[in-house]
Amino acid sequence: MNEDTYDVIIVGGGAAGLNAALVLTRARRRVLVVDAGAPRNRFAAHMHGFLTRDGFSPLELLALGRAEVRGYGGEILAGRAVSATGEAGAFEVTVELAEPDATRTTGGTATFTARRLVIASGLRDELPTIPGLAEQWGTGAIACPYCDGWEARDLRLGVIATGPMSIHQATLVRQWSADVTFVGPLTDDLDPAVREGLEARGVRIIATEISSVLSSADGTLTGVALADGTTLDLDRLFVGPRLQANDELLRQLGAETAEGPMGAWTASDFTGLTSVPGVWVAGNSGNAGALVVVAAGMGAMAGAALNADLVAAETRAAVEAARAGSTRTPV
Ligand SMILES: Cc1cc2nc3c(=O)[nH]c(=O)nc-3n(C[C@H](O)[C@H](O)[C@H](O)COP(=O)(O)OP(=O)(O)OC[C@H]3O[C@@H](n4cnc5c(N)ncnc54)[C@H](O)[C@@H]3O)c2cc1C
Repeated sequence: MNEDTYDVIIVGGGAAGLNAALVLTRARRRVLVVDAGAPRNRFAAHMHGFLTRDGFSPLELLALGRAEVRGYGGEILAGRAVSATGEAGAFEVTVELAEPDATRTTGGTATFTARRLVIASGLRDELPTIPGLAEQWGTGAIACPYCDGWEARDLRLGVIATGPMSIHQATLVRQWSADVTFVGPLTDDLDPAVREGLEARGVRIIATEISSVLSSADGTLTGVALADGTTLDLDRLFVGPRLQANDELLRQLGAETAEGPMGAWTASDFTGLTSVPGVWVAGNSGNAGALVVVAAGMGAMAGAALNADLVAAETRAAVEAARAGSTRTPV
């Protein structure tokens, strides 16, 4: 094995990747985290639902996490991993470096080798194309009531009718406010039982297309303009974005997918081990529904399982060496 080989390369330095790195560096593993620096919740000023860190800045959480990982000797590299090949014991990851480094670079890219991989690259939220919506994402326009519902309690809430998941969202957010409007053309052909349930709980249904999302001069969301020329005043707008896993490397490596509530997603066991030996997945790239604390937990679990896998490989090698009468101290 090349002595430059890392024990583990972790692709993605969000909560999942950094927690995997923390566990693995504390297990005295040589760890490289490659991070493109665009965590999914970067649009939000505050993070909720994480015990002892409720209301904390998501970016500050990651800055603290990077410092902890570096404190145990982990390396964190700014860049995007663009390819991953190989097999357990000898993976190769090619990275487009954010800041080309003369010692490692060939034309702005560098290739690193590792015995194991953790892919913790998150997912992309693809918003419906409604003018004014993207500007509100993470402030006035939100997706997850467990993240931001408390702050929206008793306010005037809208839910954009985008697909079946938005029916679930409209039903759910009624828990946080009695003033909920489910708005968009999908509401036209609502299942009668669903419509009855929403109406029985006082959810207003407006089957008119949203033409734009409205904001005040200071950037506060004020409502939506509808295609019929009317305006609906709102304080928060719930959106169900299309979720797209950042799973290109997992596909390159041949990891299998399984159908779930969010469509085809990378399949793994309870530790995050994929169908490819030596490759773990953690966080939103392994579970679209994982909140920050869950993503961090998945990273910790993957880190511990991966370390155990390395220990098992090292034990096998030590036994073989001992049987062969080698006097070399096994790694
Ligand atoms: C607006 C908004 C608000 C939210 N609020 C909350 C909240 O209050 N509480 C909560 O629990 N959850 C919240 N979430 C969900 C939260 O964002 C996720 O749970 C969390 O980000 C998942 O962590 P992760 O590590 O899996 O992925 P991420 O945090 O997305 O991190 C993945 C990292 O991998 C990097 N990456 C991707 N591809 C590559 C590559 N090829 N090479 C190198 N790096 C790569 C990305 O740039 C990113 O830095 C919110 C989400 C959104 C969109």
